[in-house]
Amino acid sequence: MTPVVDSYAVIGNPIAHSRSPWLHAAFAQQTQQAIRYDRCLLPTDGFAQGLSQLRDNGLMGCNVTVPFKGDAFALAQWHSPAALLAQACNTLWWDGQTLKADNTDGVGLVRDITYNAGVQLSGQRILIVGAGGAAAGIVGPLIAAGCGHIHMANRTAHKAHDIIERHQLMAGQHGCTLSASALDALHVPPSQHETPAAKLSSFDVIINASAASLGGQRIALPSALVHSRTLAIDLMYGPSSRVFLDWANAQGCATRDGLGMLVEQAAQSFFIWRGVMPSTAGVLAQLRAMVDAPCD
Ligand code: NDP
Repeated sequence: MTPVVDSYAVIGNPIAHSRSPWLHAAFAQQTQQAIRYDRCLLPTDGFAQGLSQLRDNGLMGCNVTVPFKGDAFALAQWHSPAALLAQACNTLWWDGQTLKADNTDGVGLVRDITYNAGVQLSGQRILIVGAGGAAAGIVGPLIAAGCGHIHMANRTAHKAHDIIERHQLMAGQHGCTLSASALDALHVPPSQHETPAAKLSSFDVIINASAASLGGQRIALPSALVHSRTLAIDLMYGPSSRVFLDWANAQGCATRDGLGMLVEQAAQSFFIWRGVMPSTAGVLAQLRAMVDAPCD
């Protein structure tokens, strides 16, 4: 008789590259949870229908990646505070008939910075480049972690302004200030800043949350934005992240790719579904070795 196991999946388009099945298999083995976790490719206009079919076949929960994080948000009937602020979800599950949604990207990033990298965020000045789904998901957890100021700069400025606007109330409650601008504004000399100059100089942490590295393009930033202890992070991981991180290294920054965030956000999803928090350090080390291994 086939053993009955709880079924999960990662849903996206494309999805073949996803490391999530490997990660959740590692977590399940470590915590002795009997689950299966599959990759699921859905047509870009077929998220709701595809999810419904997967549910009929016994799916208990799923991770959601590009381009469906917004569809997942729209379809869910209950949202965590993180999902409401991000207006995008990477974690879905059913509670009875209710489809619930959370966004664990930001908590994953904060855990990677503070726990894996050992960098404290309290009072720090943060620059986020990009205003897509990933950027939207990290602002709330960075505020909650005690950051002092967060500036978001994006090629399309209004998207950054919109995300920052909906986080203003939370930021005020945590004593964090927020600002936003076009990406180009980072190159304007301080004397000509419309935004107060102090807001656009010398960041403690610079996070490339744009998809530029994915397309092999480097985000060109002025070196005045960094100081000798700046940590530069690209949410992309592996060789593609080097296009930004090599520039940051050349400026004297410490650098970090998005692999730790990937592992930590997956662990948070696993905890939501299974009620058990896996240990991430060994899993991250194993995945690092796989990602950095030379290709044949
Ligand atoms: P989205 O498509 O939602 O957003 C893309 C963002 O990048 C937009 O703000 C877009 O600007 C900007 N952008 C794209 N190309 C360029 C460019 N050449 N120059 C400047 N800005 C550019 O993507 P996501 O937010 O979902 O993903 C962003 C990155 O984060 C990806 O590299 C993804 O792999 C990574 N990621 C990593 C995770 C992890 O766990 N490590 C989790 C989630 C994402 P505009 O608005 O003007 O179009």
